[in-house]
Parts: sequence; C-alpha cells; structure tokens
Amino acid sequence: VNAPLHYKRVVLKLSGESLADSGGRGISGEESGEIARQIKLAHDTGCQIAIVIGGGNILRGAQFSGSNSMVHEATAHYMGMLATIINSLAMQDALEAHGLQTRVMSAIPTDKIAETFIRRRALRHLTRGRVVILAAGIGNPFVTTDTAAAQRALEIEADVVLKATRVDGVYSDDPEKNPHAVLYESLTYSDVMEKNLRVMDATAIALCSEHKKPIVVFNFKKNGNIVRAISGENVGTWIGA
Ligand code: UDP
Repeated sequence: VNAPLHYKRVVLKLSGESLADSGGRGISGEESGEIARQIKLAHDTGCQIAIVIGGGNILRGAQFSGSNSMVHEATAHYMGMLATIINSLAMQDALEAHGLQTRVMSAIPTDKIAETFIRRRALRHLTRGRVVILAAGIGNPFVTTDTAAAQRALEIEADVVLKATRVDGVYSDDPEKNPHAVLYESLTYSDVMEKNLRVMDATAIALCSEHKKPIVVFNFKKNGNIVRAISGENVGTWIGA
C-alpha cells in the first residue's frame, strides 16, 4: 500500500473546529488564513482541490438535539448543515485573499449565497483551476460531513479523501488520552471496521471501502502538512484496500 507520487484531484475534509481557535468554537481569521495559505501552496503544484467543511465549531445536530429536547433531531441536523455553509463562506474569502479562484457549491440550494451542487458543474470548476468548497454536506440529515467527503470524492472521481485532524493519523487508541497509543502507517478498510478505529463515521468508511477510494488521515496543525498531503506525500495514515 503506497500513495501515488502526486494527486491530480483531491477532496480535503476540514472539520469546523479546524477554522476555530483552540477552544474549538467560532471562526478565527488567523486559523482559516493559515489553512488558506497552505491550500494556495498546494494548488500551485497543479492539484485540483475540492474542500468539504464541517460545522462542529458552530453546531452538531446529534449533540444539539440531545440537549434541546424541543428541537427534533432532523431539524438539528439541518441547523448543522447551515453551520457548514457559514464556514464555507468564511473559507471562500480566506482562500480568495490568497489569490485563489473559488466557488461555494451547496447541497442545499441557497441561491443568494452559493451555487447549488451540480456534479458536472463542479467538475468544470475544478478543471478550470477553481477551488470548490462543498457546503451543506450531502443535504440530508443523520449523517456528517465525513460521509459528504466520501460521497463527493466518488462523484467527482477524486484520487483520495484527505481527512485533516489534530493528531498525526490513526492510532490504536486516543493519543490525547493514552500515551501508549500506536500510530498506524497504513490500514485496510476492514482493519478500520474490525478494530472499530475512529477515523471517519461508519457510512463514510463503508462508501470508501465499497468503491476502493483511499483515505489519508493527517495532522493539519503541523506546518506544511496540508501542502504535503495534497501533493501526495506520505503523511499520516493511509487507508486503502
Ligand atoms: N450534517 C447533516 N448532513 C450532512 C452533513 C452534515 O445533517 O450531510 C449535520 C450534522 O448534524 C453534523 C453537522 O451538520 O453534525 C456538522 O457537520 P460535522 O459534524 O460533520 O462537522 P465537523 O465535525 O466536521 O466539524
């Protein structure tokens, strides 16, 4: 199992928290600017980049409905999808401040603020060198943006799903709690499922496994790692067949 030398097209999954300061809430100009700077460098290598952004820095449906019994869980998930649109708009301006051309494409039509996701249109933007920011997940409740990243990667025939996290890759246990947790260099989809490793949600893993779409889990906080990951360097944990 080896990563190719250079990816032509990637889906980069950023959690909502990656745009926030260390507390994990809201949107930080500094954090989103730094991510944008690295994406610009990666884009300069000639890679086509689609970004899926989460909404966890604002609201996660499952959590929110758990603590607000008046709000139906489905409603809360729609609120989470709206949060991803807010993040996408922030990321769009951050990327454009670094000289990139971008389009936000939303799975939920919001014609005043973003294009609606249309597969062939997304492909057109990518081949023209625009960074495409995919907002509102897949537009349906009860899943997360991990599933959206996997699904869109299949749709647009991305070479890989790059999952940006705060740790160096996939560990045998939570490395922020267990100092003896071991970092895996590569894993198969069945390793992930059988060992119940927390990589992405189960639907996302199942989709990638069924269609043999590789996933790379890496630490976006380490300087230069986003560029390395997008450029196809071995960084973090590689998951494939
Ligand atoms: N969500 C959804 N459908 C989707 C994508 C997201 O219902 O296709 C909702 C879900 O409630 C999720 C929230 O939007 O918790 C925010 O996304 P996510 O939790 O994936 O954000 P992240 O953890 O990546 O910041």
